[in-house]
Amino acid sequence: MPRVGIGYDSHRFTTSRPMVLGGLQLDCGFGLAGHSDADAVLHAVTDAVLGAMGGPDIGELFPDTDPRWKDADSSVFLRAALERAAQANLAVVNCDVTVIAEQPKLSPHKQPMRRRLAELLGIDPSRVSVKAKTNEGMGWIGRGEGLAVIAAVLLDERTA
Ligand code: MG
Repeated sequence: MPRVGIGYDSHRFTTSRPMVLGGLQLDCGFGLAGHSDADAVLHAVTDAVLGAMGGPDIGELFPDTDPRWKDADSSVFLRAALERAAQANLAVVNCDVTVIAEQPKLSPHKQPMRRRLAELLGIDPSRVSVKAKTNEGMGWIGRGEGLAVIAAVLLDERTA
């Protein structure tokens, strides 16, 4: 039986570090605050993979109190989630991501992000979607305090 998972993440903006999002460094003059590299796209995708497997969540596996994950490249978390899936004989079918942010302008980054996610997930880019929305100026996202990401991942049994 295929299994679907949903992941959500949000991080505050900060001017004290570069923006890392979707496995890419974006040159936009500000970044995301967090214990690891704060890559909200990879965190949401990681939680979607873990969620499809019935958990645990990313915070349980990689607590932000653990100094090992300080400034960590978040692809480590995604790779670990994919390894757990592989051990359960599950592979990613497709991945659908929505980034909600007023800034930075994401349209030039959607395709590179899609390719990078496909590479990390070990699937063809045609099975990955990266979409960008603003929040129409509403609420904390609208005020430019940070960004949010929603991701869905479908897992299915690996065929030999
Ligand atoms: Mg996070």
